[in-house]
Amino acid sequence: MSSLLVLCPGEDEIESAFEIVLSQEDAGEFFGNVEFVDPLRVSGRVLRDGHIFWLLLQANGKVSLECRRCLEAFEREVKGQIEQRYVAARDERDFPKDEETFLCDGERLDAMEPLREALMLSLPTFPLCSENCGGICPLCGRRVERPPCPCGGGEDGFGIRLRDKLQS
Ligand SMILES: [Zn+2]
Ligand SMILES: [Zn+2]
Repeated sequence: MSSLLVLCPGEDEIESAFEIVLSQEDAGEFFGNVEFVDPLRVSGRVLRDGHIFWLLLQANGKVSLECRRCLEAFEREVKGQIEQRYVAARDERDFPKDEETFLCDGERLDAMEPLREALMLSLPTFPLCSENCGGICPLCGRRVERPPCPCGGGEDGFGIRLRDKLQS
């Protein structure tokens, strides 16, 4: 799926509300390498001021991520919120060029790009299953809660720092 169409308020209205639930499959397909473990709930409002529309969008979901230190999968809630301005115009020549503004036809607008941005902003850039995940022991390869490992490896945190460096 490449678009997420939301109805705009009619000419005699000032706002409309919407609520869309994307299945895990649809959300996963669109966001590529992100694995959703729950349906993705997208809701919000569209405000109208003549030919200008404001999309106020919220997204709530749960994703499965891989810890960058121990490589275990863990689940994390994602919550994103974003505002986006649209203008109703037949083509770009009808309004002054402005990178902050998206085009729409005045009846519906495509919320996919703002939704993508809201989710990307809410995903951690360096996912860790817990702040002090001990990672994998550089000597024996087992996952340790807190270095040093019972085998004696990783005492100085060398393995963890090296792993972070290689993966960042
Ligand atoms: Zn971890
Ligand atoms: Zn060990």
